[in-house]
Amino acid sequence: MLPAQEAEALILEAVQALDVQQDVELVELEACHDRILASPVTSRLDFPHWDNSAMDGYAVRFEDVKTCSADQPAVLEVIEEIPAGYQPQKSVQPGQAARILTGSVMPTGADTIVIQEHTQRQAKTVLVLEPPSEPQAFVRHQGAFHQAGEPLLSTGIVLKAPEIAVLAAAQCVQIPVFRRVRVAILSTGDELVSPEQSLQPGQIVDSNQYALAALVAEIGAEPITMGIVQDDPDRLKDAIIQSLAPESSATAIQSADIILSSGGVSVGDYDYVDRILAELGAEIHIRSVAIKPGKPLTFATFPNTLYFGLPGNPVSALVTFWRFVQPAILKRSGLAHGWKPRFIRAVTTQDLRSDGRRESYLWGNIEIFDGSYRFTPAGGSSSSGNLINLAGTNALGVVAIAQTHVKAGDTIQVLLTHGK
Ligand code: AMP
Ligand code: MG
Repeated sequence: MLPAQEAEALILEAVQALDVQQDVELVELEACHDRILASPVTSRLDFPHWDNSAMDGYAVRFEDVKTCSADQPAVLEVIEEIPAGYQPQKSVQPGQAARILTGSVMPTGADTIVIQEHTQRQAKTVLVLEPPSEPQAFVRHQGAFHQAGEPLLSTGIVLKAPEIAVLAAAQCVQIPVFRRVRVAILSTGDELVSPEQSLQPGQIVDSNQYALAALVAEIGAEPITMGIVQDDPDRLKDAIIQSLAPESSATAIQSADIILSSGGVSVGDYDYVDRILAELGAEIHIRSVAIKPGKPLTFATFPNTLYFGLPGNPVSALVTFWRFVQPAILKRSGLAHGWKPRFIRAVTTQDLRSDGRRESYLWGNIEIFDGSYRFTPAGGSSSSGNLINLAGTNALGVVAIAQTHVKAGDTIQVLLTHGK
């Protein structure tokens, strides 16, 4: 039984990020939200594109206004109005000013902005009642934010609203992003049926297929649902082969980067997974991890595919996904940062208990209260069979090995369970 930290390190070590040459696709700007940039973006444009005004006011020559005051205002001739989107036609000469609005292009000849509040307009002249603090005041210079040709956005970042704004401003309309990581999902068990089938005694619905597909999609990967596989070694072997090399099968899916199976990895009579993996030439690295729920976890590697055999128990399957599979998918997806499990420290509002033999993950809710994180475990039974009270939670509170009791008010580690 491997400690969780060691299992995490071993798994993440085995994950290779997608290739910046081969695993790239071009998507439209409109479709790039939440995708991961696969090559640096440069721009032909300076930002700002030209010198412009940061305020509403007047573009002037500093020399003309540097000594003015309310008693002795500088009197300047207003030669032009420069609204947004307008190219100034005139050059500001000594004794002149141009009316200018925020973001508008600086006229030649002027070097400084006098803000509107320090002026008094009189028909074709303006009185400047207070000098600007310094030459160039309130002028935003061409290229001050970014210079053409320099990298604008770097490989491995997630494209959210600010990055999309930058791409649009730089006129990038075809964006190179990493392809989605393909994750095959298969559920093992003779007792499993799909949700629309009527349940016979002893049967249960294959909820893991749906939950795992949702988790995979939530972090930007592509779920490939392989359905229910009976507890029959040959069928399971076929399903794994099909996930690994679907070219040889009738289905038109591509080979998976990661295979997730649930069920059949404990020491029950029908637990074939480990044996089949060995037969197919996988290297098995992990057979069990010292966490609760989730002890029976298999991790194996094929040359181009990672294999996670998750416990069948629905809560254990999700906890092991959040703890080990999610970081692996995120690292594989090409993210430069932010793929590691996100642990924070929070005060628990209730006593927490564990048997002390394994690291325990208790599901519940994290919230911000008075500026600090606060964790409240889900009500009812925290048995690993209790799928129902997992709904509505957003975090897992951790009770360390050898600890059996955490008192309300104590600070604990909490794993955030939602997306990237
Ligand atoms: P196993 O890991 O195969 O021993 O399964 C452990 C428990 O999880 C059993 O009660 C199974 O019926 C249940 N289980 C296994 N696979 C699934 C699944 N795909 N969806 C829901 N429950 C499952
Ligand atoms: Mg089973």
